[in-house]
Amino acid sequence: MKIAVIGAGQMGNGIAHVFAQSGHQVTLIDVNQASLDKALVTIGKNMDRQVAKGGLTEDQKKEALARIAITTELASGVREAGLVVEAATENVDLKLRIFRDMDAHAPAHCILATNTSSISITRIAAATKRPGQVIGMHFMNPVPVMKLVEVIRGYDTTDEVTRTVVELSTAIGKVPVTVNDYAGFVANRILMPMINEAIETLFQGVGGVAEIDTIMKLGMAHPMGPLQLADFIGLDTCLAILRVLHEGLGNPKYAPCPLLVQMVTAGKLGMKSGEGFYAYTAGSKDLVVAPAFRKNAPHLETAR
Ligand code: NAD
Repeated sequence: MKIAVIGAGQMGNGIAHVFAQSGHQVTLIDVNQASLDKALVTIGKNMDRQVAKGGLTEDQKKEALARIAITTELASGVREAGLVVEAATENVDLKLRIFRDMDAHAPAHCILATNTSSISITRIAAATKRPGQVIGMHFMNPVPVMKLVEVIRGYDTTDEVTRTVVELSTAIGKVPVTVNDYAGFVANRILMPMINEAIETLFQGVGGVAEIDTIMKLGMAHPMGPLQLADFIGLDTCLAILRVLHEGLGNPKYAPCPLLVQMVTAGKLGMKSGEGFYAYTAGSKDLVVAPAFRKNAPHLETAR
Protein backbone atom coordinates (compact mmCIF):
# COMPACT_ATOMS: atom_id res chain seq x y z
CA MET A 1 0.00 0.00 0.00
CA LYS A 2 1.25 3.50 -0.84
CA ILE A 3 1.53 5.76 2.18
CA ALA A 4 1.55 9.56 2.40
CA VAL A 5 2.76 11.31 5.55
CA ILE A 6 1.85 14.95 6.09
CA GLY A 7 4.27 16.92 8.27
CA ALA A 8 7.97 16.07 8.22
CA GLY A 9 8.81 17.09 11.79
CA GLN A 10 9.88 14.95 14.74
CA MET A 11 6.98 12.50 14.33
CA GLY A 12 6.46 12.62 10.56
CA ASN A 13 10.04 11.62 9.77
CA GLY A 14 9.79 8.66 12.17
CA ILE A 15 6.49 7.52 10.65
CA ALA A 16 7.92 7.75 7.10
CA HIS A 17 10.99 5.81 8.33
CA VAL A 18 9.05 2.83 9.74
CA PHE A 19 6.72 2.50 6.75
CA ALA A 20 9.61 2.72 4.23
CA GLN A 21 11.64 0.20 6.22
CA SER A 22 8.68 -2.20 6.01
CA GLY A 23 8.59 -2.01 2.21
CA HIS A 24 5.97 0.70 1.59
CA GLN A 25 6.40 3.52 -0.92
CA VAL A 26 6.14 6.71 1.13
CA THR A 27 5.55 10.31 0.08
CA LEU A 28 6.51 12.76 2.80
CA ILE A 29 4.71 16.10 2.48
CA ASP A 30 5.45 19.38 4.26
CA VAL A 31 4.81 23.05 3.55
CA ASN A 32 8.40 23.72 4.46
CA GLN A 33 11.13 22.42 2.10
CA ALA A 34 13.76 22.78 4.84
CA SER A 35 11.74 20.40 7.09
CA LEU A 36 11.65 17.84 4.27
CA ASP A 37 15.40 18.08 3.65
CA LYS A 38 16.11 17.82 7.37
CA ALA A 39 13.76 14.82 7.69
CA LEU A 40 15.69 12.86 5.04
CA VAL A 41 18.97 13.57 6.84
CA THR A 42 17.44 12.50 10.18
CA ILE A 43 15.99 9.29 8.72
CA GLY A 44 19.38 8.46 7.16
CA LYS A 45 21.17 9.02 10.49
CA ASN A 46 18.61 6.96 12.42
CA MET A 47 18.97 4.13 9.90
CA ASP A 48 22.78 4.35 10.20
CA ARG A 49 22.30 3.72 13.92
CA GLN A 50 20.19 0.63 13.12
CA VAL A 51 22.89 -0.59 10.72
CA ALA A 52 25.57 -0.11 13.40
CA LYS A 53 23.47 -2.16 15.85
CA GLY A 54 22.90 -4.92 13.27
CA GLY A 55 19.16 -4.32 12.93
CA LEU A 56 19.41 -3.34 9.26
CA THR A 57 21.90 -4.03 6.46
CA GLU A 58 23.48 -1.24 4.42
CA ASP A 59 21.52 -2.46 1.35
CA GLN A 60 18.21 -2.52 3.26
CA LYS A 61 18.92 1.02 4.41
CA LYS A 62 19.56 2.21 0.83
CA GLU A 63 16.39 0.48 -0.42
CA ALA A 64 14.29 1.96 2.37
CA LEU A 65 15.62 5.47 1.72
CA ALA A 66 14.93 5.07 -2.00
CA ARG A 67 11.25 4.37 -1.18
CA ILE A 68 10.79 7.84 0.33
CA ALA A 69 9.78 10.71 -1.96
CA ILE A 70 9.35 14.27 -0.69
CA THR A 71 7.08 17.08 -1.88
CA THR A 72 5.57 20.38 -0.77
CA GLU A 73 2.40 19.71 -2.81
CA LEU A 74 -0.33 17.98 -0.84
CA ALA A 75 -2.63 17.37 -3.82
CA SER A 76 -0.11 15.35 -5.85
CA GLY A 77 1.43 13.76 -2.74
CA VAL A 78 -1.78 12.03 -1.63
CA ARG A 79 -3.19 11.24 -5.10
CA GLU A 80 -2.23 7.53 -5.11
CA ALA A 81 -2.19 6.87 -1.37
CA GLY A 82 -4.06 4.01 0.32
CA LEU A 83 -3.33 5.55 3.73
CA VAL A 84 -2.41 9.11 4.69
CA VAL A 85 -0.99 9.73 8.16
CA GLU A 86 -1.19 13.39 9.13
CA ALA A 87 1.53 14.49 11.56
CA ALA A 88 1.52 18.27 11.13
CA THR A 89 1.69 20.80 13.97
CA GLU A 90 -0.85 20.26 16.81
CA ASN A 91 -3.35 22.96 15.91
CA VAL A 92 -7.01 22.20 15.39
CA ASP A 93 -7.73 24.76 12.63
CA LEU A 94 -4.66 23.62 10.70
CA LYS A 95 -5.67 19.96 10.99
CA LEU A 96 -9.24 20.67 9.87
CA ARG A 97 -7.87 22.50 6.81
CA ILE A 98 -5.45 19.68 5.98
CA PHE A 99 -8.23 17.06 6.30
CA ARG A 100 -10.50 19.02 3.96
CA ASP A 101 -7.63 19.14 1.44
CA MET A 102 -6.78 15.46 1.91
CA ASP A 103 -10.43 14.53 1.43
CA ALA A 104 -10.57 16.50 -1.81
CA HIS A 105 -7.41 14.97 -3.32
CA ALA A 106 -6.94 11.43 -1.91
CA PRO A 107 -8.58 8.48 -3.70
CA ALA A 108 -12.07 7.50 -2.46
CA HIS A 109 -10.81 4.27 -0.81
CA CYS A 110 -7.97 6.03 1.03
CA ILE A 111 -7.92 5.93 4.86
CA LEU A 112 -7.18 9.29 6.47
CA ALA A 113 -5.33 8.90 9.79
CA THR A 114 -4.07 11.53 12.22
CA ASN A 115 -1.20 11.29 14.68
CA THR A 116 -2.74 13.99 16.88
CA SER A 117 -1.89 13.74 20.59
CA SER A 118 -5.22 15.06 21.77
CA ILE A 119 -7.53 16.62 19.18
CA SER A 120 -10.90 14.87 18.74
CA ILE A 121 -10.84 12.34 15.88
CA THR A 122 -14.62 12.80 15.53
CA ARG A 123 -14.18 16.55 15.06
CA ILE A 124 -11.47 16.04 12.42
CA ALA A 125 -13.59 13.36 10.68
CA ALA A 126 -16.56 15.75 10.52
CA ALA A 127 -14.48 18.07 8.31
CA THR A 128 -14.44 15.34 5.62
CA LYS A 129 -17.04 13.58 3.49
CA ARG A 130 -15.69 10.18 4.60
CA PRO A 131 -15.89 10.16 8.44
CA GLY A 132 -16.03 6.35 8.46
CA GLN A 133 -12.50 6.31 6.97
CA VAL A 134 -10.95 8.72 9.49
CA ILE A 135 -9.02 7.25 12.43
CA GLY A 136 -6.34 8.14 14.98
CA MET A 137 -2.92 6.50 14.62
CA HIS A 138 -1.04 7.84 17.62
CA PHE A 139 2.61 6.86 17.30
CA MET A 140 4.99 7.44 20.21
CA ASN A 141 8.25 9.40 20.12
CA PRO A 142 10.83 8.29 18.93
CA VAL A 143 8.74 6.37 16.37
CA PRO A 144 11.38 3.88 15.13
CA VAL A 145 12.02 2.79 18.74
CA MET A 146 8.64 2.89 20.50
CA LYS A 147 6.38 -0.13 19.94
CA LEU A 148 2.97 1.32 20.73
CA VAL A 149 0.44 2.71 18.27
CA GLU A 150 -2.69 3.97 20.04
CA VAL A 151 -5.43 3.41 17.45
CA ILE A 152 -8.36 5.74 18.10
CA ARG A 153 -11.81 5.08 16.69
CA GLY A 154 -13.86 8.21 16.04
CA TYR A 155 -17.64 8.18 16.40
CA ASP A 156 -18.10 6.99 12.79
CA THR A 157 -14.90 4.99 12.17
CA THR A 158 -15.86 1.66 10.59
CA ASP A 159 -14.80 -1.78 11.82
CA GLU A 160 -13.15 -2.45 8.47
CA VAL A 161 -10.99 0.68 8.62
CA THR A 162 -10.02 -0.11 12.22
CA ARG A 163 -9.07 -3.67 11.22
CA THR A 164 -6.95 -2.44 8.29
CA VAL A 165 -5.08 0.05 10.49
CA VAL A 166 -4.50 -2.56 13.21
CA GLU A 167 -3.15 -5.03 10.61
CA LEU A 168 -0.91 -2.41 9.00
CA SER A 169 0.46 -1.32 12.38
CA THR A 170 1.27 -4.94 13.25
CA ALA A 171 2.90 -5.49 9.85
CA ILE A 172 5.32 -2.58 10.45
CA GLY A 173 6.39 -4.13 13.77
CA LYS A 174 4.24 -2.07 16.13
CA VAL A 175 1.77 -3.12 18.79
CA PRO A 176 -1.60 -1.45 18.11
CA VAL A 177 -4.02 -0.87 20.96
CA THR A 178 -7.52 0.32 20.04
CA VAL A 179 -9.40 2.86 22.18
CA ASN A 180 -12.33 5.24 21.84
CA ASP A 181 -12.27 8.94 21.07
CA TYR A 182 -12.48 11.07 24.22
CA ALA A 183 -10.13 13.94 25.06
CA GLY A 184 -6.56 12.75 25.46
CA PHE A 185 -7.57 9.17 24.50
CA VAL A 186 -5.81 6.87 27.01
CA ALA A 187 -2.08 7.68 26.77
CA ASN A 188 -2.23 11.42 27.39
CA ARG A 189 -5.27 11.30 29.67
CA ILE A 190 -3.12 9.40 32.15
CA LEU A 191 0.33 10.82 31.35
CA MET A 192 -0.48 14.55 31.29
CA PRO A 193 -2.17 14.75 34.71
CA MET A 194 0.91 12.99 36.14
CA ILE A 195 3.23 15.53 34.49
CA ASN A 196 0.98 18.40 35.63
CA GLU A 197 1.01 17.05 39.20
CA ALA A 198 4.81 16.82 39.12
CA ILE A 199 4.93 20.50 38.06
CA GLU A 200 2.41 21.43 40.80
CA THR A 201 4.54 19.55 43.35
CA LEU A 202 7.56 21.59 42.23
CA PHE A 203 5.47 24.81 42.25
CA GLN A 204 4.40 24.20 45.86
CA GLY A 205 8.02 23.60 46.88
CA VAL A 206 7.39 20.05 48.06
CA GLY A 207 10.49 18.90 46.17
CA GLY A 208 13.04 20.17 43.67
CA VAL A 209 13.33 19.13 40.01
CA ALA A 210 15.92 16.44 40.62
CA GLU A 211 14.17 15.09 43.75
CA ILE A 212 10.84 14.73 41.97
CA ASP A 213 12.37 13.01 38.94
CA THR A 214 14.65 10.79 41.03
CA ILE A 215 11.71 9.65 43.18
CA MET A 216 9.65 8.72 40.13
CA LYS A 217 12.58 6.99 38.41
CA LEU A 218 13.87 4.97 41.33
CA GLY A 219 10.58 4.58 43.17
CA MET A 220 8.26 3.79 40.28
CA ALA A 221 10.80 2.35 37.82
CA HIS A 222 10.02 5.05 35.25
CA PRO A 223 12.89 5.30 32.74
CA MET A 224 12.62 9.11 32.82
CA GLY A 225 11.23 11.42 35.51
CA PRO A 226 8.02 13.34 34.65
CA LEU A 227 9.77 16.72 34.46
CA GLN A 228 12.47 15.42 32.12
CA LEU A 229 9.76 13.74 30.04
CA ALA A 230 7.84 17.05 29.86
CA ASP A 231 11.00 18.75 28.57
CA PHE A 232 11.40 15.96 25.99
CA ILE A 233 7.80 16.21 24.75
CA GLY A 234 7.89 20.04 24.74
CA LEU A 235 6.24 22.18 27.44
CA ASP A 236 4.07 23.94 24.82
CA THR A 237 2.77 20.55 23.66
CA CYS A 238 2.06 19.49 27.27
CA LEU A 239 0.17 22.73 27.87
CA ALA A 240 -1.85 22.33 24.65
CA ILE A 241 -2.85 18.76 25.61
CA LEU A 242 -3.82 19.77 29.16
CA ARG A 243 -6.03 22.52 27.74
CA VAL A 244 -7.77 19.97 25.50
CA LEU A 245 -8.33 17.68 28.53
CA HIS A 246 -9.57 20.59 30.66
CA GLU A 247 -11.98 21.83 28.02
CA GLY A 248 -13.03 18.44 26.66
CA LEU A 249 -13.67 16.70 29.98
CA GLY A 250 -14.84 19.82 31.86
CA ASN A 251 -13.12 18.82 35.11
CA PRO A 252 -11.01 21.40 37.02
CA LYS A 253 -8.51 18.69 37.95
CA TYR A 254 -7.03 19.03 34.45
CA ALA A 255 -6.31 22.79 34.77
CA PRO A 256 -2.68 23.38 33.78
CA CYS A 257 -0.36 24.37 36.64
CA PRO A 258 0.34 28.16 36.55
CA LEU A 259 4.09 27.41 36.51
CA LEU A 260 3.71 25.47 33.24
CA VAL A 261 1.73 28.37 31.71
CA GLN A 262 4.39 30.84 32.89
CA MET A 263 7.28 28.79 31.48
CA VAL A 264 5.63 28.47 28.06
CA THR A 265 4.92 32.23 28.07
CA ALA A 266 8.62 32.83 28.82
CA GLY A 267 9.63 30.62 25.86
CA LYS A 268 11.06 27.87 28.11
CA LEU A 269 9.77 24.95 26.06
CA GLY A 270 12.13 22.21 27.23
CA MET A 271 14.75 20.43 25.17
CA LYS A 272 13.81 22.07 21.86
CA SER A 273 14.33 25.61 23.20
CA GLY A 274 17.43 24.66 25.23
CA GLU A 275 15.75 25.16 28.63
CA GLY A 276 12.80 23.86 30.60
CA PHE A 277 13.12 22.14 33.97
CA TYR A 278 16.65 21.28 32.86
CA ALA A 279 19.20 23.32 30.87
CA TYR A 280 20.46 21.67 27.67
CA THR A 281 23.85 22.24 26.08
CA ALA A 282 24.46 20.94 22.54
CA GLY A 283 26.72 17.90 22.59
CA SER A 284 26.33 17.29 26.33
CA LYS A 285 24.31 14.42 27.77
CA ASP A 286 24.49 15.72 31.37
CA LEU A 287 21.14 16.36 32.95
CA VAL A 288 21.56 19.75 34.64
CA VAL A 289 18.71 21.44 36.50
CA ALA A 290 17.81 24.81 34.92
CA PRO A 291 19.08 27.88 36.84
CA ALA A 292 15.53 28.91 37.84
CA PHE A 293 15.10 25.73 39.89
CA ARG A 294 18.55 25.25 41.37
CA LYS A 295 17.83 27.04 44.61
CA ASN A 296 15.30 24.34 45.48
CA ALA A 297 17.80 21.53 45.29
CA PRO A 298 21.35 22.83 45.65
CA HIS A 299 22.68 19.40 46.62
CA LEU A 300 21.08 17.65 43.61
CA GLU A 301 21.95 19.91 40.72
CA THR A 302 22.75 16.98 38.49
CA ALA A 303 20.09 14.29 38.43
CA ARG A 304 21.24 10.70 38.28
P1 NAD B 1 6.92 19.23 14.66
O1 NAD B 1 6.75 20.65 15.03
O2 NAD B 1 8.24 18.57 14.87
O3 NAD B 1 6.54 19.01 13.11
C1 NAD B 1 5.38 19.53 12.53
C2 NAD B 1 5.63 19.67 11.04
O4 NAD B 1 4.38 20.01 10.40
C3 NAD B 1 6.62 20.78 10.66
O5 NAD B 1 7.66 20.25 9.85
C4 NAD B 1 5.76 21.79 9.88
O6 NAD B 1 6.47 22.44 8.83
C5 NAD B 1 4.68 20.87 9.33
N1 NAD B 1 3.47 21.55 8.88
C6 NAD B 1 2.85 22.64 9.43
N2 NAD B 1 1.79 22.97 8.69
C7 NAD B 1 1.70 22.08 7.67
C8 NAD B 1 0.82 21.90 6.57
N3 NAD B 1 -0.21 22.71 6.38
N4 NAD B 1 1.06 20.89 5.70
C9 NAD B 1 2.11 20.06 5.87
N5 NAD B 1 2.99 20.19 6.91
C10 NAD B 1 2.78 21.17 7.78
O7 NAD B 1 5.75 18.46 15.44
P2 NAD B 1 5.74 16.94 15.94
O8 NAD B 1 6.28 16.87 17.32
O9 NAD B 1 6.29 16.07 14.87
O10 NAD B 1 4.15 16.70 16.09
C11 NAD B 1 3.35 16.42 14.96
C12 NAD B 1 2.05 15.80 15.43
O11 NAD B 1 2.33 14.60 16.17
C13 NAD B 1 1.21 16.67 16.36
O12 NAD B 1 -0.14 16.46 16.09
C14 NAD B 1 1.59 16.14 17.73
O13 NAD B 1 0.59 16.36 18.69
C15 NAD B 1 1.73 14.66 17.44
N6 NAD B 1 2.56 13.91 18.38
C16 NAD B 1 3.72 14.42 18.87
C17 NAD B 1 4.50 13.66 19.76
C18 NAD B 1 5.81 14.20 20.30
O14 NAD B 1 6.33 13.64 21.27
N7 NAD B 1 6.37 15.24 19.71
C19 NAD B 1 4.09 12.37 20.12
C20 NAD B 1 2.91 11.85 19.59
C21 NAD B 1 2.14 12.64 18.72
